[in-house]
Amino acid sequence: MSGLQPENAGVGGIGETAEEKYGALAFDTALSTLVVVALYVVVKVSLDGFRQWRARISVLVVGSGPVGLTAALVAVRSGKVLKLTVLDERYRTALLCRPQQIALDPRSVKFLLGLGVDFDNMEGCWHNEHFFTRIGVFQEYLLSILEQKKQKVEIKVQLGTKFTEEYLQRILHNDWPRVIVVADGSCGDSCSVLGISSDYIVESCHAYGANATIERSDQRQVPTPEIRAHNLYFDLSAYGVEALREHKNPTAKSGFHLKIYGTFRNRYMALACPTSDTKMVRYLRQTANSSIMKNIFHESFNAYKTDIEPRLSDVTLHHMQCSRRLFEIQLSHRRISAAYIEGENVAVIVEGEAARVLNFDTGFGINLGMRGLESVGTFIYRTATAVDQNDVLEALSAKMQYSKQVAETFKQTGLTESMLSVVG
Ligand SMILES: Cc1cc2nc3c(=O)[nH]c(=O)nc-3n(C[C@H](O)[C@H](O)[C@H](O)COP(=O)(O)OP(=O)(O)OC[C@H]3O[C@@H](n4cnc5c(N)ncnc54)[C@H](O)[C@@H]3O)c2cc1C
Repeated sequence: MSGLQPENAGVGGIGETAEEKYGALAFDTALSTLVVVALYVVVKVSLDGFRQWRARISVLVVGSGPVGLTAALVAVRSGKVLKLTVLDERYRTALLCRPQQIALDPRSVKFLLGLGVDFDNMEGCWHNEHFFTRIGVFQEYLLSILEQKKQKVEIKVQLGTKFTEEYLQRILHNDWPRVIVVADGSCGDSCSVLGISSDYIVESCHAYGANATIERSDQRQVPTPEIRAHNLYFDLSAYGVEALREHKNPTAKSGFHLKIYGTFRNRYMALACPTSDTKMVRYLRQTANSSIMKNIFHESFNAYKTDIEPRLSDVTLHHMQCSRRLFEIQLSHRRISAAYIEGENVAVIVEGEAARVLNFDTGFGINLGMRGLESVGTFIYRTATAVDQNDVLEALSAKMQYSKQVAETFKQTGLTESMLSVVG
């Protein structure tokens, strides 16, 4: 027994050494695998990071309206654009001479400040945290910023150039942009050139409205704050409509909302009320007598205009044009607002009035366009850094979703914010 002990002890010793060796081997293997995996992850993450950091694409913006030019600025600010081309079929003078005034609401102002827009260096005026300026002034300012960015990004602004099939065909195969932003306004047809369906979803905003414009060339074209008036009732007894009892009725919906906006030279008016079936509303929706609406706008303008602008008289009334009757306010938005051109690997998005438009001018349209642009920076980043087609499709799908959300939100609150609410 005792003679066996050392042997057993010896066998035990050999066993322990082998186990230790296996253990050590296993540990070494695990450790080196871990190191290799960690190295792989580090290299991959660094390479991906480097690739993402380096990724730069070419972007084409169709339309140099306020939305197209802001989209161009978003593209430059994304840091992911190597080459930017901005088109407009109009030449510079025609592009910048539009008389309408735009009213940027606080959210649009914040968005534009984030893009580096300096409102102190733009002709305009502030009122109730809204910035009022002429559309041409805004466009000219954006064109000047793009001009300054030419040192960092290759930027081509091609005015007097229409986006057509021939234009597309002239682009060389390897020179196609990776992203096309269509912002050619409510009358543009660039989407059809790109094969995007012109199918619109038309939805009621649950309100009725009418618009009027007054053009007086002897008046000043300076930025002017808007005027809002609420709960208005009109005396239509001369037309046989007895409305007085209706508005004293507490169950009846509130009356009309009026907005006077634009410059003194180009005055615009919008009149709106939530849908209802009161006698007055029914009458104003159905009347064949267009002078009723004209009288309403005439009287309203004189009652609510600023003190320093002249009244409209029977003599100057011909300066005014207006809707013949009240109509239902509807928002039309594209069923397809983003698309992928497979062969060329191009992602197309539609923005501004080319994507969604009201049949009623609220003096607020520009803000609806700005809302859509809030997701363009992320979209460009995702497209530029996409590894494969799936990533691009996912970015497009998110963009479409966002566009739908913009329309949905406007339907719920847009009209109230722009017309029906008391500001200030
Ligand atoms: C009478 C009126 C009064 C308004 N008042 C106000 C107001 O007070 N406040 C406010 O916020 N908004 C107002 N608006 C709305 C505002 O003008 C619009 O919301 C805004 O212009 C929309 O911008 P956009 O860039 O989408 O389109 P647009 O301004 O229409 O720009 C589209 C551009 O695309 C170009 N284009 C079209 N087709 C092509 C093509 N194939 N190739 C190249 N270029 C092309 C056009 O020349 C145009 O310059 C008013 C609008 C009107 C009509």
